[in-house]
Amino acid sequence: MAESHVRVLIAGGGTGGITLASWLRRLRPDLELAVIEPSPHHDFQSGWVLVAGGFVDPASTRRPEAEVMPAGVHWIQAAVDAFEPDQNRVRLSDGQCMGYDVLVVALGLELQWSTVPGLAESLGRHGVTSIYRRDLAAHTHRCLQAFEGGTAVFTHPATAIKCGGAPQKIMHLADQQFKARSGVGVRSRLVFCTAQPALFPVEAYSRKMVAIADERGEEVRYRHELVAVNAPMRLATFRVQEPGQAPREEEIRFDLLHVVPPMAAPRVVAESPLAVNPEQGWVAVDPRTCRHPLYANVFAIGDVGDFPTAKTAAAVRLQAPVVAANVLAQLEGRPLDPGYGGYSACPLITSDHSVMLLEFDYTNRPVSSFLVNPVKERWFAWLLERFAFPWIYWNRMLSGLPHEGAYLKPFEGLARRLGLMRWQG
Ligand SMILES: Cc1cc2nc3c(=O)[nH]c(=O)nc-3n(C[C@H](O)[C@H](O)[C@H](O)COP(=O)(O)OP(=O)(O)OC[C@H]3O[C@@H](n4cnc5c(N)ncnc54)[C@H](O)[C@@H]3O)c2cc1C
Repeated sequence: MAESHVRVLIAGGGTGGITLASWLRRLRPDLELAVIEPSPHHDFQSGWVLVAGGFVDPASTRRPEAEVMPAGVHWIQAAVDAFEPDQNRVRLSDGQCMGYDVLVVALGLELQWSTVPGLAESLGRHGVTSIYRRDLAAHTHRCLQAFEGGTAVFTHPATAIKCGGAPQKIMHLADQQFKARSGVGVRSRLVFCTAQPALFPVEAYSRKMVAIADERGEEVRYRHELVAVNAPMRLATFRVQEPGQAPREEEIRFDLLHVVPPMAAPRVVAESPLAVNPEQGWVAVDPRTCRHPLYANVFAIGDVGDFPTAKTAAAVRLQAPVVAANVLAQLEGRPLDPGYGGYSACPLITSDHSVMLLEFDYTNRPVSSFLVNPVKERWFAWLLERFAFPWIYWNRMLSGLPHEGAYLKPFEGLARRLGLMRWQG
């Protein structure tokens, strides 16, 4: 079997893989670097919410992979079939083997539509939709526009997901659109069914989210996990697990069902020696250096890593410089930088003119890159989400440029003295 070798191999050319490749190219232009990515396209997934809201065209969320691949990086257009870290190599779908000095795993996660009986075959029909599939984002917009009243159900699964705020973003946009159309708002009931015990893991944000839902009359049901869909009958079945009680099933009749599917680590990772364990499947990592605890020349970035924080592109943005520095440190035998503090963010769109930025880190407390109280809906945050973040993604993040918050960091002391950061205590 043919075997090639490269100094640094990045498995996955999505948000994490490309951002990291750009950082490495900037720091060490002569470094031999390859990215394994089967897809000919690169997607800006956060943009799918904006498509569903009717704010942007689906075409603006996709570019050819070749366009985002940094110059000088070797793109291997294949999929990883197996990780063999004891041999320092990966097996590819085209039958080749690729050896490496350092490997970075950036495969993202898998959406498990088929684990909910009746769901996969219903998508795009009978009022069942999701912003978690690019081809359904525009369909979701059409569903919201066509909705004439009735029950709209929005789900959040029991597993970890990417962008924990997205399931609620789409509900708030739907609510606003229904209320804007004569008579539709009063004929509509919006029900948010989450398998989780809270709306968000960071308590300060969760409290605010509950207040927003209450204010709008959106019903929230906790510990409700979607377990079956009968789309022709318009019935969604939930397993309800209240503490101290036996699980029970509850059926809800829907006119519109927006599903966020269960998510898991890619099978190729879960079945490899890199996984924390086969059940959880994520790549084991030191949460601060992003390095594998057993394989010193393996790192992870993005959704695939077992980082105890939310899986977002925002997290990737802050992981990338740390992983890049540590890949070079590993190659040169220097100590690693424990610099990743768990920063993540999922801007919560609450209407077409307000967003709560939802930034936090491993302390599980709100933080702010913009030096303002983040537990607040803001108009300027909407402008960031709608206009600035898509531009920043394509033009700065994927090019390996620092997070905008880095430029405001020197002013943190001043902001504190002026009382702007009082929420931090
Ligand atoms: C609807 C939605 C809204 C979101 N909103 C936000 C938001 O507002 N803010 C935010 O920060 N984040 C948001 N996210 C999350 C963000 O998009 C992800 O967290 C981010 O893309 C993770 O990057 P990644 O590199 O880990 O995974 P991905 O970007 O998914 O990349 C993984 C790559 O690996 C490739 N791959 C898969 N299997 C293989 C294989 N076997 N071999 C080789 N390559 C493979 C895939 O083709 C893909 O290109 C949102 C996501 C969605 C879906």
